[in-house]
Amino acid sequence: MIIDDMSINTLLYYLEHPYEVCVNMEKKLRNHEVFLDFDAESWTNGSELNDQTKRGSCKMKRYSDYILHTHSIYSRAYPSSEDILKVCKRKTIKYSFIVTSWGIWQLYAGNKSVLNSADTSMYLEQIQKIIDKYDKIYPKYTAINKITMGSLKKKELNSISRLLEKKLSNFDFKIVFTSWKEINKQNNNYELTEIF
Ligand SMILES: [Zn+2]
Repeated sequence: MIIDDMSINTLLYYLEHPYEVCVNMEKKLRNHEVFLDFDAESWTNGSELNDQTKRGSCKMKRYSDYILHTHSIYSRAYPSSEDILKVCKRKTIKYSFIVTSWGIWQLYAGNKSVLNSADTSMYLEQIQKIIDKYDKIYPKYTAINKITMGSLKKKELNSISRLLEKKLSNFDFKIVFTSWKEINKQNNNYELTEIF
């Protein structure tokens, strides 16, 4: 299953905007090939980036099996702790894609769990400690992130991903990162890694 170049180009266009966009993805058949396309009705633009939080996040009314949102080039190029925990908690979400200046993140959790607010806070804090390590590899909030696309330290990024998977193994959490360089090699198509 792929997200094809048409959708990818639209997402790249929105990456340059100072807010995030959120959309549900749906399976469609084209030339006997299944691919993921925007569910246009669900398209939501976030608020303008807030100077303090640098988030500019959007709120979805409902989630489908495949959800996608962007982190603009002015914000973090990796998933937030909320992004990560959402996949672990929400039964409806099968895969969550986060499109950023570094590339595309694919999040998955096979074991969903309802968490009370104390557990939620605990997990958010523990996840945050791990994802803070991304900032040690590349400085936060750099609009120049795109320039580093070709020289991303994938090994370092992957080792942080393995820490997240270990911490969230109760949820059977998986995180896959694909850089723009790799996506360019596939003619700007993004191939979904099926995790079951
Ligand atoms: Zn996010």
